[in-house]
Amino acid sequence: MTHRLVLIGPPGSGKGTQARRLAERLKIMHLSMGDALRTEAARGSPIGKEVQGYLDRGELVPVELTNRILAQRIEHADGFLLDGYPRSLEQARFLESITTIDHAILIDVSDEVSVERIAGRRICSVCGKEYHARFAPPKIDGKCDDDGGELVQRSDHSPEIVRNRLLIYHEQTEPVISFYKERLLRIDGEQPIDTVFSAILAALGE
Ligand code: AMP
Repeated sequence: MTHRLVLIGPPGSGKGTQARRLAERLKIMHLSMGDALRTEAARGSPIGKEVQGYLDRGELVPVELTNRILAQRIEHADGFLLDGYPRSLEQARFLESITTIDHAILIDVSDEVSVERIAGRRICSVCGKEYHARFAPPKIDGKCDDDGGELVQRSDHSPEIVRNRLLIYHEQTEPVISFYKERLLRIDGEQPIDTVFSAILAALGE
């Protein structure tokens, strides 16, 4: 049987990492709404520029756009894992109107851990490889191990924007947790990556 899953968690909860591994293991389509929006922004079109503004401020982009991306991507998918969607009750209701979700997986971490993890993140400006000043440092400070590219901070990873994103998470995304309460799998996200991954698989009965 295939899975139709959503993955919820604050910034820095490890959603993206777990989503990539889960989609591969369960052989289901993975949609990262954040990645889809960053791709849209990188086009540099008028809509792309508008999207970039929301990303830079750490705010949710308008639902018309996320609805369109979502509908296009899940239309022909049998099983799927939505990473970073839904992030508001309005989005959860829209999703429910077009498909049925089996489980919502919540990766839970405290605000302190969220800020610490995000603020230390760096990405290679050439290949996009991810590093962390404390948890996954490069061999040479500020340089990518693979291609020597300069390591930079994503615009929405500054401490100020992370705090704004947490505020939005508590106000707009937390109600989504209650929306899915009968289908919710709550996972402690402050454990090591492999432990979180095993806990999710066990909760899914895999
Ligand atoms: P993420 O890559 O999941 O950390 O998301 C990065 C940013 O993309 C968020 O701070 C929002 O600005 C935007 N974003 C991601 N998912 C959504 C969503 N479901 N609805 C609105 N905006 C979103």
